[in-house]
Amino acid sequence: MDGSRRRFLKVAGLSVLGVAGGASLKLGAEQEPATALAPELEPAPTAPLTARRWAMVVDLRKFEEHRSWDRCVEACHKVHNVPHFDNRKDEVKWIWTEPFENAFPGVEHPYLDPEDREAPVLVMCNHCDNPPCVRVCPTQATWKRASDGIVMMDWHRCIGCRYCVVACPYGSRSFNWRDPRPFIPEIDPDFPTRMRGVVEKCTFCEDRLAHGKQPACVEACEHGEMVFGDLEDPNSEVRRLLAEKFTIRRKANLGTQPEVYYIV
Ligand code: SF4
Repeated sequence: MDGSRRRFLKVAGLSVLGVAGGASLKLGAEQEPATALAPELEPAPTAPLTARRWAMVVDLRKFEEHRSWDRCVEACHKVHNVPHFDNRKDEVKWIWTEPFENAFPGVEHPYLDPEDREAPVLVMCNHCDNPPCVRVCPTQATWKRASDGIVMMDWHRCIGCRYCVVACPYGSRSFNWRDPRPFIPEIDPDFPTRMRGVVEKCTFCEDRLAHGKQPACVEACEHGEMVFGDLEDPNSEVRRLLAEKFTIRRKANLGTQPEVYYIV
């Protein structure tokens, strides 16, 4: 008999004795109480973070100063069970870096310092206000949430047609060509894993927001490199930054209305 089964039988036996005897029964010091915590001892639920329109501001100068890109990528991929493939062809990514000239084609020019041209830029799904990926999805596996603008994904509804991968002009969507589970360094049981044949991407950490937490990448920033907040709130930090700093968006000329802004 394994340990957990033996302990279960012991606790069950004690419970029966307690009920039969009509008296409370003290457990021995080596025995853990098997009952749930009394309501007053349970941790209070954390209020979700809400907004009318979530947006992200990424400060490229602070990232350059603190070289903190990897920390953000690792934090995101760890909590979302993103697999790691050595083969770039199979790569799955929610947040990653691109050289400046790839992230902002058309913004660079021939006289730009080569170091600036190659400088890493942290990129992710832009949670576009006018998302082409949503328009092409035949099963509504991806949609823009009316309450706060997050472009969501339902992996159970995804049929793997990859129309969204083609429609996204930012390369923000990854397709699972292989079963990702054996390639997740350490599976977090609190977040679902995906399967072969479905598309995935950044969700602005809607799962964490629901539990009152900031996105994992933002939390991993120690110097305010990323700021997340409500674009519709004139007093929010994102609105202050957008009013005070010069910011650009990726491929804004396409009309997708990206909601990730970059301080350059
Ligand atoms: Fe869709 Fe790509 Fe825009 Fe994200 S960045 S909302 S995946 S079009």
